[in-house]
Amino acid sequence: LNRAEVHNMAAGPSPLPTSVLQQAAKGLLNYNGTGMGVCELSHRGKEFKGIVEKAEADLRELLQIPDSHAVLFTQGGGTTQFSSVFLNMLAYHRLKSKDVPAEQYSPPTVDYIVTGAWSSKASAEAKRLAVPPTPNAQALANVHIAATTKPTKFNRVPRKEEYNFTNDAAYVYYCENETINGVQFAGDVDSPAAVPFDLIPNDVPIVADYSSSFISRPIPHIERHALIYAGAQKNLGPAGVVVVIVRKDLLVDTNEAALLGGVPVCPIELEYKILADNGSLYNTPPVFSIYVSQLVLRYLIEEKGGMAGVKETNEKKAKLLYAALEEAERKGLVRLTVSDREARSWMNVTWVIDEADGDEESSREKRFLKGAEAQGFRQIKGHRSVGGIRASIYNAVSLESVQELVNYIKNWAAAEKW
Ligand code: PLP
Repeated sequence: LNRAEVHNMAAGPSPLPTSVLQQAAKGLLNYNGTGMGVCELSHRGKEFKGIVEKAEADLRELLQIPDSHAVLFTQGGGTTQFSSVFLNMLAYHRLKSKDVPAEQYSPPTVDYIVTGAWSSKASAEAKRLAVPPTPNAQALANVHIAATTKPTKFNRVPRKEEYNFTNDAAYVYYCENETINGVQFAGDVDSPAAVPFDLIPNDVPIVADYSSSFISRPIPHIERHALIYAGAQKNLGPAGVVVVIVRKDLLVDTNEAALLGGVPVCPIELEYKILADNGSLYNTPPVFSIYVSQLVLRYLIEEKGGMAGVKETNEKKAKLLYAALEEAERKGLVRLTVSDREARSWMNVTWVIDEADGDEESSREKRFLKGAEAQGFRQIKGHRSVGGIRASIYNAVSLESVQELVNYIKNWAAAEKW
């Protein structure tokens, strides 16, 4: 099969633009006429430093990142950020009360908004680190769930009245787009499904996981965030690099904080200050992932109309697909798993078929998947933890591919009906 013959709708790692991959293939063999491939160049040489600088400049331009924030490239995936966020934010909080002696320092509260599988995992990691499993250990923080939609199977984001924030929390954490559950905070700040910025106490730092919606549309109130991170492998580039956008005053010496007592020592590679002080080159970076990411960023600026153009296309794609699914839902053929329209993800569209059908063999879902496979749709089976179908329509999935999926759904629905 040729790339052009399939519609790859994988949730991650996900497709990348073909022209970018063609360019990357050349760079892999011979970067910019150096006679050496990009993975064969010293990460401390001027060529690679140039790539990191260009990636940062393009990202700043695309997302309008203010000068108050640093941009870092690191490793360990989104999962490592679950731990890094906790350790660095605790250190920042401790340094703000430097004068309080260790014996009088009480562990802070950290607030988590839990809207799906990834924010659940992030809060679980915070709990694991907050309560050391050693005998008689003191808790390092109180992990508080400021709101969760778990009781309704993550079918929406919390309603305003459901949030319960802590006044002096060390930070508030949320996941902007829940890749597995297909739930996303609304991009329009006036929507009831938007991140409740107005309810979060002013001095409390806000941390966001943007892994699966990064550079798919502008980030509302980017300046209000203390930290935003995103693993590359959906919209940005190959797995291996994580982007961290962090307010510069949060770049603190975690050792200094640990010496004051009450906060743990942070592994060196996880300290944001170390990464920033070394221009993201403290240790050997994931050179290929950063290189491809830089090409993707350039491509979005030069060929896709920047964030405004990308947003427009993504909105069209999502509207088309949800409209077709709502029609099938009215016929009783499918159920969209996110009931609140405003909280439906533009990136990961999730639905179930067959809820009432006990017969495994003849299930509609199997027929749907088999037919989809024959039409070239790939990797659309829902995550193993939730089942159903998930079409991930990231930046590199074209409007035409989504239109073809819509046609397929309509034809399938018509055939099922008779
Ligand atoms: N956060 C979100 C929203 C994700 O979608 C993922 C992975 O898909 C992660 C975090 C974890 O990222 P990683 O697999 O890079 O550790």
